[in-house]
Amino acid sequence: MARKRRFGVSLSEEVFEELARLSRAIGVDRSKIISMATKEFLSKELHFARAHECEGVLVVSYASESRAQIDELIEDSARIIVGRSHFHARNGCCIEVLYLRGSSEDTWNFRSSISGICRACHYIPTCM
Ligand SMILES: [Zn+2]
Ligand SMILES: [Zn+2]
Repeated sequence: MARKRRFGVSLSEEVFEELARLSRAIGVDRSKIISMATKEFLSKELHFARAHECEGVLVVSYASESRAQIDELIEDSARIIVGRSHFHARNGCCIEVLYLRGSSEDTWNFRSSISGICRACHYIPTCM
């Protein structure tokens, strides 16, 4: 097992209780959950810190009234969009699943402009 470092972490009572509840429910100790969550957060946030050829799936949901705006953004970034599927969720939202391939900078810019219009926006890199 890799060497581990210990340090004090302060959590609000509420977050700590939720963590404890999850720990009991799934039978995984709190340190392990914190470690998993930190790893996931870091890989997500650090992904764009290094310039690279990026590739991944972007899933967005938005109100159908925003469709024209979204279409325009997608057309403007056509060079990095490999494929696109459109769905209608039961709650009336439009769901767009896009496969992107391009520079990490273009990908980051596209994701940040589209996330301003969307209710939810998740990017799952496949370039790792
Ligand atoms: Zn990438
Ligand atoms: Zn739609």
